[in-house]
Amino acid sequence: MLPVAGTRPDLRSLSLDELALLVSGMGAEPYRARQLFRWLHQRGASSIEEMTDLPRAFRQRLADETRLATLSIDAVQQSSDGTRKYRLRTEDGKFIEAVYMPEESDDTEEEPAAGRGGSGDEHLRLRRTLCVSTQVGCAMGCGFCMTATMGLLRNLSAGEIADQVYRVNADLRTLGIPGERALTNLVYMGMGEPLHNYANVKRSLELLLHEEGAHFSQRHITVSTSGLVPAIDRFGEETSVKLAVSLNATTDEQREKLMPVDKKWNIAALLQAVRRFPSRQGRRVTFEYVLLRGVNDSAEDAARLAKLLEGMQVKVNLIPYNENPGLGFGDPGAERVQAFRKELTSRGVTAMIRKNRGRDIAAACGQLAVAGQPA
Ligand code: SAH
Ligand code: SF4
Repeated sequence: MLPVAGTRPDLRSLSLDELALLVSGMGAEPYRARQLFRWLHQRGASSIEEMTDLPRAFRQRLADETRLATLSIDAVQQSSDGTRKYRLRTEDGKFIEAVYMPEESDDTEEEPAAGRGGSGDEHLRLRRTLCVSTQVGCAMGCGFCMTATMGLLRNLSAGEIADQVYRVNADLRTLGIPGERALTNLVYMGMGEPLHNYANVKRSLELLLHEEGAHFSQRHITVSTSGLVPAIDRFGEETSVKLAVSLNATTDEQREKLMPVDKKWNIAALLQAVRRFPSRQGRRVTFEYVLLRGVNDSAEDAARLAKLLEGMQVKVNLIPYNENPGLGFGDPGAERVQAFRKELTSRGVTAMIRKNRGRDIAAACGQLAVAGQPA
């Protein structure tokens, strides 16, 4: 669907089919659509002028009748562990953040592809992951999360979600990381609730997976949700990427205090949705569980968690809390975290401890840019 006359369509948010319509409406040759799409999503062009192999008159027409949403890098902070936190500015002056995390991957996350039996080199590759934002702020109001304190300012467009990838790829190129597309993995775990911006998130996935674009593998993209049940069902039907669910508690009494969404869709409803989530090769759902000192980190919590997940083909990512001043929650510390994991494993639940990346630059989950937004 092309936006109504009078508003200029954002080229970066259009599908290849929509670009084809636009291009033919301008009287240009049909193959120009594909060429344009590649400029936008494979090369990550930041302006129409740089698309020098398009005829000048056509570029002029595009410049007059469309726009191109491009983020600008406002600030970069580098952590001692290689994490880079980007503060990106939207064209209307809002700030969002994206976090780059390089990691030597032992590929425990990956299912070996069918028939390959897990070849050795796949296990040694360097994973370069970007954590992207989907909204400016968030409406979900989770008590432990810094983004929640902003409220929701607006949704990001599909083009803005995808452009985080292109801006970071361009920056990594300047650092000498080879290839047009340095990033290998994406997690939708930055600012915002992805399933609360469903249409734009879905469209951004289509753009980023497209073989003429950034061409990510569906196995290398994970979208995280706080638990919007009807949207989880749709997401399972309509997309092919992985899902992570932020559970964070084991009783509704506990969870609704931490995450207001639990009042609408409680733990039982959420687990039902995960049970019916279409599971194909490599598409197991992951649960995230933020460990908060003295709140949800006891041995009883671990036992209850194991009980809740009984019989489900799922994995748990334990995330030690990154403290945010003023929110009143604490990091349980390494010992408790280990003990919690042991409890789970002894009950047959696969659990990993998420390494805290970039703590020295407040780039870890839930600490993304909050300051600096215009009123
Ligand atoms: N809104 C989505 C995705 C963004 S939040 C969601 O809630 O799933 C990504 C993850 O970071 C969630 O699992 C959330 O529980 C976790 N998180 C939020 N604040 C955190 C903090 N301060 N420390 C550790 N994890 C945090
Ligand atoms: Fe939003 Fe996720 Fe933060 Fe909750 S944890 S407020 S859903 S970003």
